[in-house]
Amino acid sequence: MVSKSSQLRRAVVLGCGGERKVWALLERRTMMNGVEKTNGEDLATEEQLITPWTVSVASGYTLLRDPRHNKGLAFTVDERDAHYLRGLLPPALMTQELQEKKLMHNLRQYEVPLQRYMAMMDLQERNERLFYKLLIDNVEELLPVVYTPTVGEACQKYGTIFRRPQGLYISLKEKGKILEVLKNWPESNIQVIVVTDGERILGLGDLGCQGMGIPVGKLSLYTALGGLRPSACLPVTIDVGTNNEKLLNDEFYIGLRQRRATGQEYAELLEEFMTAVKKNYGEKVLVQFEDFANHNAFELLEKYSPTHLVFNDDIQGTASVVLAGLLAALKLVGGALADHRFLFLGAGEAGTGIAELIALEISKQTKAPLEETRKKIWLVDSKGLIVSSRKESLQHFKKPWAHDHEPVKGLLDAVKAIKPTVLIGSSGVGKTFTKEVVEAMTSINEKPLILALSNPTSQSECTAEEAYTWSKGRAIFASGSPFDPVEYNRKVFVPGQANNAYIFPGFGLGLIMSGAIRVHDDMLLAASEALAAQVKQENFDKGLIYPPFSNIRNISANIAAKVAAKAYELGLASRLPRPKDLVKYAESCMYSPVYRSYR
Ligand code: NAD
Repeated sequence: MVSKSSQLRRAVVLGCGGERKVWALLERRTMMNGVEKTNGEDLATEEQLITPWTVSVASGYTLLRDPRHNKGLAFTVDERDAHYLRGLLPPALMTQELQEKKLMHNLRQYEVPLQRYMAMMDLQERNERLFYKLLIDNVEELLPVVYTPTVGEACQKYGTIFRRPQGLYISLKEKGKILEVLKNWPESNIQVIVVTDGERILGLGDLGCQGMGIPVGKLSLYTALGGLRPSACLPVTIDVGTNNEKLLNDEFYIGLRQRRATGQEYAELLEEFMTAVKKNYGEKVLVQFEDFANHNAFELLEKYSPTHLVFNDDIQGTASVVLAGLLAALKLVGGALADHRFLFLGAGEAGTGIAELIALEISKQTKAPLEETRKKIWLVDSKGLIVSSRKESLQHFKKPWAHDHEPVKGLLDAVKAIKPTVLIGSSGVGKTFTKEVVEAMTSINEKPLILALSNPTSQSECTAEEAYTWSKGRAIFASGSPFDPVEYNRKVFVPGQANNAYIFPGFGLGLIMSGAIRVHDDMLLAASEALAAQVKQENFDKGLIYPPFSNIRNISANIAAKVAAKAYELGLASRLPRPKDLVKYAESCMYSPVYRSYR
């Protein structure tokens, strides 16, 4: 009989010749922190701690076409015999490492980024573990392939490059049937959903149903960087139409061919979706909103935060990663966060989200009320400095930032008037940190802190080279898009990238591994502090305010541990007992892409 602590895992092998039962050998399970440890990825799934589970694995030809279990030429001789693979593969045997080497070589032959993206998607559909092994081992090289900037182009051309559907499409046609649609998905144990309605994909605008590339890409980062199991991740696109004329007239467009539904029709579909999600997957499934236009993004977050485990990466993830950079930068510029004055160009999801989290952190540190700490932060939008005389006409998320001041039109004048120590660009408009603006920041500050967050690279407020040159090497600079190191006055400066991928995978893992039922702002602060603590002296010496990305799984484990600790502290964690060493526990929860042995 199979016992709870068995080393054996039962697999039902469904072959062409009928059903056959086999035993698959698994690594030894041990007790850790009072919680039974299975093999990494499985630990975070509650039911699997209680019962040994049955897995359906195809054999023979079907096995080779099952991406979750296919190993290609890495099937051993014994496995080929046991699983009816003899003759279906050429005789050569390859290790996973050799397969990885071959695929990386092949990928590097493609000069067009979109071809690399398509090759990676093909691999994901062919051999999932190999896909994740490549992504984890070559994260810095492949992140821009499976995510920004290439994923943006992929979304634009999604209809043309579309081969096999990935993720779940929920359109207005599914109204009244969303629960049924969720049940059509082959996995029932979902832990993270990334959902978009495609209205504001990256900086590319409304891409309608073709926004699916975003949830798919984000979730592959959840697995690669945060260690969530791929089978526990569900990408969803809500299709309420598109206002993109080009797509509406494109014969290859894959979505609903109508203009966007808004108002009550939109709200009802989202409400049905959120209700169905909770009904089908329970209280602890994380729903991450992604690339919604800002009127809906703020509203959805506010509406569902009290009842669901929801997170908006554009607002909260961005805020947390930028706050982490600021906390780290204090080591270079000196003072406490409360000693600084912040000026933003751009008051949308990113800008106001960051501003709010900075105000909250200062409030926690100084015990001053939030209304007071917000006064250290100023925002400029397309109409100029946000001031109290504009309050009536402002969108609700801008209102808290309307401080008393005479109207100021342009950024340069705002810099001169406010005298910020930190300048943050989040308008999506490039080349707005001009020479005059950077020089003004440099005349006010010994070490001006300049964050040019707008993406893609062409929309960056200034380049790294401009920031270092115009400030005569005094700026501490980080950006949304990556820039190469810059040599100025015989010193090499390495610009940091405020990449959301530093935060959300570890943040999500922390929520899942603690069984958190709600997201609390204090968890975002905990994530920022954890990330800032990962920046080492050798990084600061190069001007960096973020740690190297190559260490991301370790960074994610540390973030997850702090987020989980906060969830326990706030009474929001449901996975009990609390593991003693949360970093080790986080590491033990992480999915490993190494092939399993079948027998
Ligand atoms: P958004 O559309 O919600 O907000 C943009 C804001 O900028 C709007 O309030 C708009 O009115 C304002 N704006 C537009 N033109 C302006 C101008 N000329 N002067 C001043 N303000 C202007 O978009 P968002 O989600 O906040 O993203 C903004 C930018 O930040 C994008 O380029 C995005 O790629 C980038 N971003 C970077 C990161 C990161 O670095 N980690 C994360 C999120 C977003």
